[in-house]
Amino acid sequence: MRYELANIQLNRACYLLKKSKYILVCGHTRPDGDCIGSMLALKLALNSLSKRVSCVISDTFPPNLWFLPGIEQIKSRKKKVKKIKKFDLIVSLDSSSLERSGLESLRASTSPVLNIDHHQDNSLFGSVNIVKLKASSSAEILYNLLLRLGVEITRDIATCLLCGIFFDTDAFRNPNTTSRTLEITSKLLSKGACAKKIVRYLLQEKSLSTLKLWGKALARLSENRKLGIVSTVLSEEDIKQSETEGLEGIANYISCLPQAKATLLLSEKNGLIHGNLRTQRDDIDISKLAFLFGGGGHKKAAGFTISGKLVKTRAGWKVE
Ligand code: AMP
Ligand code: MN
Ligand code: MN
Repeated sequence: MRYELANIQLNRACYLLKKSKYILVCGHTRPDGDCIGSMLALKLALNSLSKRVSCVISDTFPPNLWFLPGIEQIKSRKKKVKKIKKFDLIVSLDSSSLERSGLESLRASTSPVLNIDHHQDNSLFGSVNIVKLKASSSAEILYNLLLRLGVEITRDIATCLLCGIFFDTDAFRNPNTTSRTLEITSKLLSKGACAKKIVRYLLQEKSLSTLKLWGKALARLSENRKLGIVSTVLSEEDIKQSETEGLEGIANYISCLPQAKATLLLSEKNGLIHGNLRTQRDDIDISKLAFLFGGGGHKKAAGFTISGKLVKTRAGWKVE
């Protein structure tokens, strides 16, 4: 029954994509490797079907994603997407709600929405929803959809999809890595996906200022034994001195502390504090904690954003 439902959603998604000519593709605020990789893969695929596609995000993207083919075509716009009504279809990728796109003008749109995502708190906001909680990444779901659409997986599409999978599985180290994830990875590699660049830019290459920032975050780790949470902070000042944007790397690195029930990285930018929460434990759903602060995410990796400032006091760091 479930399989049939999934099939119906896939068929409806293909129908929507095939009949639309002008398509808007959007992702989420603080875009990451899965969000951007999936957006680009979809754009390339739809272009090959002679569709006109606009990719729009509300923030700038992390500099380590600049190697992705076609990334210069993603427009970064805070508020206005011009003539929103002209789009026949909006595709939302890797986002649990339309608000998370950060694009205010989408609210006024009456175009149908195709929602492709893998977050457990997805509000099923689309006209058609392909939401698979067990998928490692949105890129993994998209791969299946592109096959169903009959799109030829080119080398560039394969690179973008593999970037999404590699990012969300944290280089195949997270438990969301399944046999299906590895099967798709194998198929993408056989299509020529450039794993070398993905490993280099997502995992290995770090600038001097980034490494110094990692050093600061690691030096400030502190353990709350009562809660079992190990946390650290990076202030606006710390982040200004560095080129880095993708702080998930630090959050993932500290998440491996064996004594911690959960780990938290708080970082401040433009009067906002972002929290990256991680847990390795199967009996903890860390997205519930993120939800208390207005955020969300997955059971083992979640986040939230609140307004405030990180201030150092004698008793330690405080949010003001
Ligand atoms: P991060 O800690 O930012 O790497 O995010 C971990 C997971 O939580 C990702 O899947 C994000 O999409 C999700 N997430 C992060 N911030 C938020 C938020 N403010 N609201 C909902 N989900 C979030
Ligand atoms: Mn994401
Ligand atoms: Mn994702």
